[in-house]
Amino acid sequence: MTFAVHGLPVARGIAIGRAVLVVSSRIDVAHYFIKPEEVETEIDRVRMARNAVADELAKLQASVALMGPNDAPHELAALLEVHQMLLQDEALTGGVKHWITDRLYNAEWALTTQLEIIARQFDEMEDEYLRERKADLEQVVERLLHRMKGTAAVLAPSPPRRKRPAAEEDDDPTAGDGIDAPLVLIAHDLSPADMLQFKKSVFAGFVTDVGGRTSHTAIVARSMDIPAVVGARTASQLVRQDDWVIIDGDAGVVIVDPSPIILAEYGFKQRQGDLERGRLARLRHKPAVTLDGQRVELLANIEMPEDTVGAVKAGAVGVGLFRSEFLFMGRESQHQTRLPDEEEQYQAYKRAVEGMQGMPVTIRTIDVGADKPLDGKAVSKQEHLNPALGLRAIRWSLADPAMFLTQLRAILRAAAHGEIHLLIPMLAHVSEIRQTLSLIDFARSELDSRGAVYGKVKLGAMIEIPAAALTLKTFLKYFDFLSIGTNDLIQYTLAIDRADEAVAHLYDPAHPAVLRLVADTIAECRRQGKSVAVCGEMAGDVAFTRLLLGLGLRSFSMHPSRILAVKQEVLRADTGKLEEWAKGVLESDDPASVLAGN
Ligand code: PEP
Ligand code: MG
Repeated sequence: MTFAVHGLPVARGIAIGRAVLVVSSRIDVAHYFIKPEEVETEIDRVRMARNAVADELAKLQASVALMGPNDAPHELAALLEVHQMLLQDEALTGGVKHWITDRLYNAEWALTTQLEIIARQFDEMEDEYLRERKADLEQVVERLLHRMKGTAAVLAPSPPRRKRPAAEEDDDPTAGDGIDAPLVLIAHDLSPADMLQFKKSVFAGFVTDVGGRTSHTAIVARSMDIPAVVGARTASQLVRQDDWVIIDGDAGVVIVDPSPIILAEYGFKQRQGDLERGRLARLRHKPAVTLDGQRVELLANIEMPEDTVGAVKAGAVGVGLFRSEFLFMGRESQHQTRLPDEEEQYQAYKRAVEGMQGMPVTIRTIDVGADKPLDGKAVSKQEHLNPALGLRAIRWSLADPAMFLTQLRAILRAAAHGEIHLLIPMLAHVSEIRQTLSLIDFARSELDSRGAVYGKVKLGAMIEIPAAALTLKTFLKYFDFLSIGTNDLIQYTLAIDRADEAVAHLYDPAHPAVLRLVADTIAECRRQGKSVAVCGEMAGDVAFTRLLLGLGLRSFSMHPSRILAVKQEVLRADTGKLEEWAKGVLESDDPASVLAGN
């Protein structure tokens, strides 16, 4: 039966494919594809864990048998018996083997997937006693997962070999058995670390239950450049493994089990999107100059050095934001040291510089905390009531100077290989600015005393806290350039958690207060002859291109996939005319409707 689930559109386009479910279990597990030659090893890991758990349960059963009825009630022995049965049950073992062998899931992913399938069958049972056995199954799987900890092979990022559907033009991709169909990812949530794993994968689109429009899940989704919907609430409970799914990344709709008529309609839309992309591709080598001759800098936001390939391909004239924290995340599951050392970071920054072939690279120092935890687990709300207001970004770095100095030394050394701009996130206080600058000096002196080679860097601050936007003169005294992080500026101005889909409707980039802070920042920088960019999602949203140009912005940094669409807007713009119009937008108490009408 066809049904639709609504969420927030975060990455455009249409994807049609078979659902791959990443379920969240009580134990945080890594999800990745293994290589075909690793199938046996992975099955062995499950087998060994099963044997170990069987022994563990047998020992418990033996000790229970020795106890009297007062110490160990009769039910306990029965329960252990049930656990042994569930452990050996063919539905569990056969299913897990299937996901590993046929889908190349790692063992933990296979186990949690099969757990979810059997758990749903339990939920549908009439008999209450049987329904309650779901909790036992969960406990058994948790025991297995605990046993498997530390036995994982090194992560294998290579995706499974899956052919694309034979006839891409076919209006009914669901024809046939669908074994070679595109895959779409459906998850409750994905940690940024999981996202990085999947970035190297085969998925044609993805959906998560949680997340706001500019949550980091959404940002990495956008960087995967595949249609995506977040905040789809119950999608991961309603969609089953292998269901056919259409993801409409323009409208934020997920259609499950579509009828042939719906499929034909979306197949058509998909082809229209491809044609539009083809048209935009012709702008790649055109300089971004407005009708009245204003040159506009279109820069790329990247997460990994390898993303520079896509940035150059999209015609970026530099990197405006390298979110360096992604080098630090998800390392535990990859059996790497907790944090990358100076040499590893230096090599990564150098690769980014080289990848940009002489164009400047803006490296933002680590911005972890809030919804970007280091170890892949979301910061528990109980532990930190307001993680977005807590130890995050520069606050984190200043609290761990050894880690920060390591990063600074690596960046300064990489600057010997090309133009690097060093960008500091989330500054608000002059004391933080001073501490940061003195640590940068200290990093230089450490390199000097070692005789290490390093280069000059331009220093910039992100304006993403209203307090910073209201004290620009202080910032401009200390920094060479500013970069407006609209994602956080909106979050902190409107008191809306950017990761919380429940308040996503109030997350409004066109709120007059937000526009005022953005406008003032651009104006003050221009007055003082300092460069200023916008590197939040607003920069890649064509609904705001003309307004930002009208406010005097000439430097936009966005995901590479947005560059050509923004360039098209730039080429059609006349900044002389836009300046007057932008003033009107700023004066309006409902800028969104003025923007929509223009
Ligand atoms: C921002 O806040 O706008 C920004 C670019 O930084 P991030 O999205 O990584 O917080
Ligand atoms: Mg930010």
